Amino acid sequence: MERTLIKDTPKKIGEKVRLCGWVNTRRDHGKMVFIDLRDRTGLVQIVGDEKLGNLRSEYVIEVEGLIKKRPANMTNDKIATGEVEIEVEKVNILAKSKELPFPIETDGYEINEEKRLKYRFLDLRRSRLLKNLINRHQFIKSVRLWFNDEGFIEVETPILTKSTPEGARDFIIPSRLQQGKFYALPQSPQQYKQLLMVAGLEKYFQIARCFRDEDLRADRQLEFTQLDIEMSFVEREDILNLIEKLMIDLVEAYGKKIYQKPFPRISYQEAMKKYGDDKFDLREKKEDDVLAFAFVIDQPLFSWKKEEKRWDSSHHPFTAPNPKDLKFLENGEIEKVRSWQYDLVCNGSEVGGGSIRITNAKLQEKIFEILGHKKEQIKNKFGHLLEAFEYGVPPHGGVAFGLDRLIAIFNNEDSIREVIAFPVTSSGESSVMDAPSEVDQEQLKELGIQITPTQKDVKKK
Ligand code: ASP
Repeated sequence: MERTLIKDTPKKIGEKVRLCGWVNTRRDHGKMVFIDLRDRTGLVQIVGDEKLGNLRSEYVIEVEGLIKKRPANMTNDKIATGEVEIEVEKVNILAKSKELPFPIETDGYEINEEKRLKYRFLDLRRSRLLKNLINRHQFIKSVRLWFNDEGFIEVETPILTKSTPEGARDFIIPSRLQQGKFYALPQSPQQYKQLLMVAGLEKYFQIARCFRDEDLRADRQLEFTQLDIEMSFVEREDILNLIEKLMIDLVEAYGKKIYQKPFPRISYQEAMKKYGDDKFDLREKKEDDVLAFAFVIDQPLFSWKKEEKRWDSSHHPFTAPNPKDLKFLENGEIEKVRSWQYDLVCNGSEVGGGSIRITNAKLQEKIFEILGHKKEQIKNKFGHLLEAFEYGVPPHGGVAFGLDRLIAIFNNEDSIREVIAFPVTSSGESSVMDAPSEVDQEQLKELGIQITPTQKDVKKK
């Protein structure tokens, strides 16, 4: 018999069906036993005799039986299938289960997070998390459809690549074939998406995995997902309008409200003066269903790194200066140069950022020099991009959104870990699997790598 999903049971009253799922709860009433059976689509009540008494929570079972309408006074309006129940004819245990290490019928916030992540495969059985994953899937699906309708093309870019600076430390991967050399995991697809503009793609997007070896904070993960976009023949205004349209469409599809339309555009200086922060919340009181978006523009192109005594890019080195401020680049008043960067904030978090790019190889070199790169380094690190710009580069710009953060906000979750299937723990270990972990001597030998004892080990000896 074909399997029926639990959500479809109310449509099949009077029919014999086969259901599969997990025992959510069991209640014994003398000769009658009630089971709430769970699959990914919901819960339904199963009724049988003592034979059901040997079923325990989280056993995986297959049930055949008749769907009956419950008497009016017996319906359960807490579950979507509450007006029906299944009268069991046959039960088959497909797998038994040990007792779970924590309850899964609660929302789970009360449970130690390390423990939840160690048993993430059980934690995800919780209806809140299942819903978050389904919503994430729907969100990404709508994003893909939206960009497709706008004429964008999704392109995957490499994970084994060369460093692209986004202000964080790189993860590096040793090469076996070229011992002593390393790949870097992308902090973002920045240079590739710019190369795709040189290639003539004009409208690119990607649901892109990015890697940054940073100290962990509540809203940071070592790997995270970006919605990454780049467009040719556009100015700042075109990109801001596109972002605004995308956000409004997504918010409306999600049944939420927008605080202010069009999104206010606030200069960085104004934001710092008014809110003391470039990530601010426009809302006076925090209503859950209202999303307050604003653009922050006109950021300074450079910021001074006190400890290192050098200029750094406020965004990244490919961001174009405002042409009106080019004179300050010439006369050395570096701090006065405004950039063509823009950030999108939502309810107090930064959810996206981007810029119009430099397309003049000379200007790009000058920026690298201000950032302290020597000529030789520029050639080694970014020669490919500068060379590409010599073959007809269209004016272009783009943006990237932190997809995990956006989805968290849309689902009223404070932590992005609640909308990621297998996030890393706050100490940087992967959920379930114990990574990072040691590797075999053999593997290290193949890579030409030797581990030197750390200070700690030396002291022990
Ligand atoms: N690559 C930038 C980032 O990851 C976004 C952009 O400039 O498009 O923040």
